[in-house]
Amino acid sequence: MTLLDTSIEFLKGVGPKRAELLQKELGIFTFRDLLQHYPHRYIDKTQFHRIRELNEQSGEVQLRGVLRRLSTVGEGRKRRLTGRFRDDSGVIDLVWFSGVHWLEKQLEVGKEYVIYGRVNSFRGQLSIPHPEMELAKQENLQKAATFAPVYPSTDKLNTKGVDARTRRRMMKALFEKINPADTPENLPDYLIQKFRFPSRFDALRAIHFPKDEQELQSARNRLKFEELFFLQFRLLQIRRRRKDAVKGFVFEKIGHYFNTFYEEKLPFELTEAQKRVIREIRRDLGAGVQMNRLLQGDVGSGKTVVGLMCMLMAIDNGFQACMMAPTEILAQQHYNSISEYVEGLGINVAFLTGSVKGKKRKELLKLLASGDIHILIGTHALLEAPVQYKNLGLAITDEQHRFGVAQRARLWKKSSPCPPHILVMTATPIPRTLAMTLYGDLDVSVIDELPPGRKEIQTLHKTENHRMRVIGFMREEIAKGRQVYVVYPLIEESETLDLQNLDEGYEALKREFPPPDYQISVVHGRMKPADKDFEMQRFVEGKTQIMVATTVIEVGVNVPNASVMVIENTERFGLSQLHQLRGRVGRGAEQSYCILMSSFKLSNESKERIQAMVRTNNGFEIAEADLRMRGPGNIEGTQQSGILNFRIADLARDGRILQTAREVAARILDDDPRLERPEHHPVKWYDEKFGKKLKGWSRIS
Ligand code: ADP
Ligand code: MG
Repeated sequence: MTLLDTSIEFLKGVGPKRAELLQKELGIFTFRDLLQHYPHRYIDKTQFHRIRELNEQSGEVQLRGVLRRLSTVGEGRKRRLTGRFRDDSGVIDLVWFSGVHWLEKQLEVGKEYVIYGRVNSFRGQLSIPHPEMELAKQENLQKAATFAPVYPSTDKLNTKGVDARTRRRMMKALFEKINPADTPENLPDYLIQKFRFPSRFDALRAIHFPKDEQELQSARNRLKFEELFFLQFRLLQIRRRRKDAVKGFVFEKIGHYFNTFYEEKLPFELTEAQKRVIREIRRDLGAGVQMNRLLQGDVGSGKTVVGLMCMLMAIDNGFQACMMAPTEILAQQHYNSISEYVEGLGINVAFLTGSVKGKKRKELLKLLASGDIHILIGTHALLEAPVQYKNLGLAITDEQHRFGVAQRARLWKKSSPCPPHILVMTATPIPRTLAMTLYGDLDVSVIDELPPGRKEIQTLHKTENHRMRVIGFMREEIAKGRQVYVVYPLIEESETLDLQNLDEGYEALKREFPPPDYQISVVHGRMKPADKDFEMQRFVEGKTQIMVATTVIEVGVNVPNASVMVIENTERFGLSQLHQLRGRVGRGAEQSYCILMSSFKLSNESKERIQAMVRTNNGFEIAEADLRMRGPGNIEGTQQSGILNFRIADLARDGRILQTAREVAARILDDDPRLERPEHHPVKWYDEKFGKKLKGWSRIS
């Protein structure tokens, strides 16, 4: 027990009632929790504004002047108090809607005050509602000349009297009790010197009560670094331990299958990015350690062929390989394209999903167990208990975010004495900072280049009054032999409503594109899988020209002849989802289009999203924009993991600090993995006591 472990209840000005509130609302139990609950902004009380220079955009301001007049207006609950406040440049109104009675007695007309509040504009008339008022006495003026912290709060705290001022008072009370010995240093001295960081105590004090902008900045830098450093340290440690502990099959050679495929079958030149990634994977597969690698690449960047070439390495070394996809349709597509790629090579590729049954299944399982099947492609069915491999050396999963951790863990049981090497492919690009955090314990490869000769998809934003033109455009494209997707949003809370949207859309389209000249497929989440597949298949085979769908088509479907993607109610889609949908077109030789339909009136955020889509086709840029707009906690597939709950670091902004923190952590782990050197003792102590618990983290695969 140290002073910082003291229950918050015992801090001056808190007590049992407020303690309970702080615990419930903010998770603050101890002095330490309070200390580490940082302000989210500051109000600048270092300078005074002049009334004449205020305008609607002034925001929060501090003024110094004389209270000229006070009067109450209205009756009963509408009663309010107004004051006139004057400095040497002008006059402004102050207004209070509550606490009128008390304020009337408290405030003194004719006295000089320092006031603080937000400038409000009503019909061009400026006023300040509910300003903080303090008599302009000498000691108040000195006290006022600071940045005052504002803490993240809740309505409940505010209404129960734990408002900004009370919180500030609590922090002051805390700093009266603690001193540097209570917050021992947790970084090695050489880093503090190198980065010119303030001491830990000084940083903590300055983050709550900064003297000036500069002091605040260096406190922030240090605390952000500290937070990111200890997380990266943990992640790299996990990776290191796994590599030390988990042996992997050694794929020594590049052999017949790989070489023949590369020299005789590969129908195109690999991009530089594809080559680089294959080299990275090859190095892993030869190292005697189980590979755990995430392969990121935008839609269409050519991940499948990379996956295939890795499977060929496995086969060259006498192992089997498997590839899993989240849906039957996708699995089927992989099966088709991979069978085609390896035709004539003497490789046995098999397909397994839940719908493969009876004798066929039995036969397949036998061949798998005897090693006669080299590559198995399918859905989760590949992970079920009866599926036994002879020697599974490599498992690839496509579209990673659709797989659960438990399913992936089952993979480990499919092979012995080592677990198979794992390659996880994802087409949802993740910003670098997020990847370093969420997958910080994995190795990450990125295909950041598209195959040459692709025509950029043209993205256009249209509103309802353009609908006839859009229909006309669809007709022209269909006349050229192309196919069109029309996608409706799907919101889980209201499936009926969505279905209605989709149904109405479908009916309207049928009027514009009547049979027998036109055929339309419909696919949505409420359909039976068999019906879904049937409809999808008709579109894939070109028997229908239009596919009306909800987002079920988001992942992976490949119809190169489809050249137009119309997205309805665009404002209801997330950015990464829009990008995924757009990736369904632009897969053939033709110019493709993505048409974003929306209502005329849009929120700023919807506008920004649509603008980002129109501006760039690059999935990584889209992901960065998404991160900036929504923050890391809301990026798809990341919601559940507490790993992204930072106290002060911000992955949208702190990329450089993160990079440095990771490099520093890696160097320390290389030089002194057990933290035995005296200069690393602070790190050891802090990591053991406060490092984020990341149980089971290393088991992405
Ligand atoms: P994704 O990364 O989205 O899974 P795919 O692997 O499906 O992308 O590849 C998209 C298309 O690009 C496929 O038709 C594939 O044959 C083709 N392709 C892949 N790599 C290259 C390349 N280096 N040059 C030309 N075409 C390529
Ligand atoms: Mg793919």
